[in-house]
Amino acid sequence: MQEQIQQLEERASQRLHEVASLADLEEVRRALLGKKGELTALLRGMGGVAAGERPRMGQLVNDAKLRIEAMLEARGAELTRIARDAALAAEIIDVTLPARAVPFGRRHPLTQTSDDIVRIFSGLGYEVVEGPEVETLYYNFDALNIGPDHPARDEKDSLFISDNLVMRTETSAVQIHVMESRQPPVKIIAPGRVYRRDAVDRTHSAIFHQVEGLLVDQGVTFGDLKGTLTAFLQQLFEAIPGGSSLRTRFRPHYFPFTEPSAEFDISCIFCGGTGCSTCKGTGWIELGGCGMVHPGVLENVRYDSETYTGFAFGFGIERMAMIKFGIDNIRLFYDNDIRFSQQF
Ligand SMILES: [Zn+2]
Repeated sequence: MQEQIQQLEERASQRLHEVASLADLEEVRRALLGKKGELTALLRGMGGVAAGERPRMGQLVNDAKLRIEAMLEARGAELTRIARDAALAAEIIDVTLPARAVPFGRRHPLTQTSDDIVRIFSGLGYEVVEGPEVETLYYNFDALNIGPDHPARDEKDSLFISDNLVMRTETSAVQIHVMESRQPPVKIIAPGRVYRRDAVDRTHSAIFHQVEGLLVDQGVTFGDLKGTLTAFLQQLFEAIPGGSSLRTRFRPHYFPFTEPSAEFDISCIFCGGTGCSTCKGTGWIELGGCGMVHPGVLENVRYDSETYTGFAFGFGIERMAMIKFGIDNIRLFYDNDIRFSQQF
């Protein structure tokens, strides 16, 4: 019996040494100490031992059981440590690995330009307002002195929704909404989308973006208009070499809602005014329209045109962005090609 106990202990030691996982260890525990385990079988065999020997043998079996349990516990702890070390090694972070580049989004060049325009005019004390993109004929045409026979009302240029509704052709309609709702002084810009029945080509799009500006107060002159636009354009293009010292030019023009009216140009920032392909050899780049608010428009919103004068201007945001970023095709703005937008 004593020999059997000794052999069992040796076998247990050997098997525990070979066990490689905690699951296997549990199996060995059952095989040794479980109900049908080897040690239990040994205890059952006590019946064949002489009565006088039983207490001693019992003691021996019990001591063996305690030692086997201690071995199981030690091996368990060891296996746990090995498993933990392996997990840590697998999860190790190699700080010398180069980081994966996270791609950054970019603001669309039109958004950047629009934000720049808003920032500059905000600095000049202008309030930013918005208006509806679907307008009645009154706001889009009549209130702006564009009479029923004016060519701009022609269905060839405008997108009509019904007899009395049109997709706004200019942001100028916002002027009327603002002036109807408040008394002078008024000092606003209105950026937004406008719609034309235009065929799409390199420089035209049926939908594009405009900024309208309006200032109405006492004693406003054309000189204020020229100074405002010149200061604005020098700031907008200051990042381009020569941009902060560009010159402006105002050419007489006709708009129904301003009198006098003008188109405004900047000295070509690509050739400095000597003439190049961008300015078609003229040394100037056309930017937009402007003028003193027509007294008839002021009367339409019940402002006293004897007391108040004002100026208005409008230009395309696409055109500004094309000059600012050197883009030669308006369609690139709307293609949503990430290779394009990532360049700005
Ligand atoms: Zn030029």
